[in-house]
Amino acid sequence: QEKLSNRINNLATSQTLAMAAKARELKAEGKDIIGLSLGEPDFNTPDFIKDAAIQAINDNYNSYSPVDGYAELKDAIITKFKRDNDLTYNHSQIVVSTGAKQSLANVAMVLLNEGDEVILPCPYWVSYAEIVKLADGVPVEVPTSVETNFKMTPEQLEKAITPKTKMIWYSSPCNPSGMVYSKEELRALADVLAKHPDILILSDEIYEHINFVGGHASMAQFEDMYERVITVNGVSKAFAMTGWRIGYIGAPAWIARACNKIQGQITSGANCIAQRAVITALEAPVSKISHMVDTFKKRRKLIIDLLNDIEGFVTTEPEGAFYVFPNVSEFFGKTLKGHKIENATDFSMFLLEEALVATVTGDAFGNPDCIRISYAASESQIEEALKRIKVAVSEA
Ligand code: PLP
Repeated sequence: QEKLSNRINNLATSQTLAMAAKARELKAEGKDIIGLSLGEPDFNTPDFIKDAAIQAINDNYNSYSPVDGYAELKDAIITKFKRDNDLTYNHSQIVVSTGAKQSLANVAMVLLNEGDEVILPCPYWVSYAEIVKLADGVPVEVPTSVETNFKMTPEQLEKAITPKTKMIWYSSPCNPSGMVYSKEELRALADVLAKHPDILILSDEIYEHINFVGGHASMAQFEDMYERVITVNGVSKAFAMTGWRIGYIGAPAWIARACNKIQGQITSGANCIAQRAVITALEAPVSKISHMVDTFKKRRKLIIDLLNDIEGFVTTEPEGAFYVFPNVSEFFGKTLKGHKIENATDFSMFLLEEALVATVTGDAFGNPDCIRISYAASESQIEEALKRIKVAVSEA
């Protein structure tokens, strides 16, 4: 559309949402699609959180909240950061937003100028590159692979740094690979960053609680990094609250102030009922959500076992989040059931059409050899999906 801005014309459509739309279309035609493409827990929001929202409605929380979040919610976030991450923040360092996605967009808008480079270890979450580009920044991809458990090495980081590097963005636990940086690995990356004091770090910790190896580490825990780190978190994943749209940052006060300023012009702050409910969510002991994490852990084992039983899939054992990210490049160049498979996008589309299983191409995450399979689905769905995939790829 020539009347649309360059900004929107240059923006890629979210491929996870595009895949979900395609799957919905096939479903509407009566096809029995199993959706393993979305990054969304298949649990309901726990009752104690829903009750808090109902209470907030009855207590007439219906006015604009402070732009950067209710003081009581900031208290709960500050307590959570101390309790779970040993991080000390005060009110002036916290901004509550409409999902962690808006937190990321705020950070990009307030920190990036045209041409500023943002290092993105691959695979990265689908929206990072597009959000950076929207803010006139330049994504710089650092490839990693299944052989190194999708971890960026300090040497790779060092090599990617240029005089234009403004930031590095990563998620740990990682969407889509499930990799988790240990404290030692983060320290090794921090040692490189210590030599480049102007680079800021965005640490996306939204999958913090969905961690099967324990020992979640935050970059901001290192004293020499604290003043340079924006810690992003939210309730979508661990509390099964994707639609409530609440995320937040802990950051140096000058960055938080800027995010508050931009939010003041764009949204006037996050939904007030959701904010009240999140106070209750964050104040609850982590044990209240551990049943979901235990379930994800069981499904992880199931899907890994089933994947390992299909020739051509090479996978790591994810340490967190609820995705597996197998390398499927063995299928490239083959023709399966009449479909010529040149790349991961072809393969993902083949699985949708022939196995009726929705996944997402690794291209969307900066890794063209892999596909992402979400295991936020029931065990019977996972079993059926992997059975269908096995049949589809073995009947060439
Ligand atoms: N960061 C990562 C790594 C994610 O996977 C997601 C959601 O898929 C988000 C941020 C955004 O979460 P929210 O629902 O809070 O906007």
